Amino acid sequence: RYRLLAEHASDVIARVTADGRVRYVSPAIAALLGIDPVVVVGSRLQTFIHPADRDRVGARLASPGEGGAISFRMSQMDGGHVWVEASTHGLGGDDGDVVAIIRDVTRRKAAEDALAAKTIDLERSNAELEQFAYVASHDLREPLRMVANYLQLIDRKLGDGKDEDLTDFLGFAIDGAKRMDRLILDLLEFSRVGRNRPEFEPVDLAEVLYAAAQPFRDKIADGGGRLELPEAAPAVNGDRQELARLFQNLIGNAVKYVPPDRAPEVVVSVAVEPDGVVVSVADNGIGIAADHRERVFQIFQRLHSRDKYEGTGVGLAICRKIVDLHGGRIWIEANGNEGSVFRVALPSAEAQSTN
Ligand code: ADP
Repeated sequence: RYRLLAEHASDVIARVTADGRVRYVSPAIAALLGIDPVVVVGSRLQTFIHPADRDRVGARLASPGEGGAISFRMSQMDGGHVWVEASTHGLGGDDGDVVAIIRDVTRRKAAEDALAAKTIDLERSNAELEQFAYVASHDLREPLRMVANYLQLIDRKLGDGKDEDLTDFLGFAIDGAKRMDRLILDLLEFSRVGRNRPEFEPVDLAEVLYAAAQPFRDKIADGGGRLELPEAAPAVNGDRQELARLFQNLIGNAVKYVPPDRAPEVVVSVAVEPDGVVVSVADNGIGIAADHRERVFQIFQRLHSRDKYEGTGVGLAICRKIVDLHGGRIWIEANGNEGSVFRVALPSAEAQSTN
């Protein structure tokens, strides 16, 4: 019955002496190497192993119980190689024989290698892109400043001698240069997220949220609005400064994207959920249509013209980058019939320390 089991298993089952001679091998060896089992029995196992892997396999046969499964290459009849994974067990008899169960892992190995190569490629192109964004935004500012400065000089030099058209044209040109500078600065900030990142540390979310809301308190109070912050919140592992910037962007938007005749109401809350700590920033603003809730996280994507709401469209892209670096998730939901809720799920510090 054991022979029947061995003969019908798709893995190769072999019995080998401690010095590597094959006493038995199951028929699956024919499919693996294209060699008749009769030829293999009595031969040295090493003959069928890639020369570079022979020593490792030999060492394993000498102490079969050690170290879990072992991967190596076997030589096929047609000159090719297959990657296999083998588990080995000493039979416990005086002769020191070893049973090896050998599985073909060529396809898995190829997929793993391809994945590893792709990951390296991706990391490289990502680093290049970041470097490009950084250098481009850094170096573009200098000539732009020159354009803006000389436009202002021309404006001053012409003084009152300009007609209405020329005044307008110069005004537009100076405004355009300033706006471009703002865009470049934001792009620079975007490319800086995650650079020279300090070690993550447990960060008290309540403190971060309090600090992030600080710059908007006056504006909310002046408009007769309301700001609600959680009194206590769990800690998350992260970069305090970047988390503060994340929530400052979200609270800033919650205050900004409100119709002019409405008092802003911003409610920030924290809940502990199975997939981490979820921070919600809810507003009573103009809301975001379901179709646009992913798009707004792309860089330079805006849903409104500048004459209605000022901005560059970089804030939420920075938010997503920060959340990604923290291993979290950010998404938007509707806030009842009015406004939006931005939710940020972050891995809790506790969950991470027990991992
Ligand atoms: P910016 O505010 O500079 O335009 P963001 O990346 O912060 O850039 O936001 C992108 C776009 O998403 C905004 O232009 C706006 O249309 C929309 N948006 C962001 N936050 C809100 C919000 N709380 N309510 C409604 N729309 C929002």
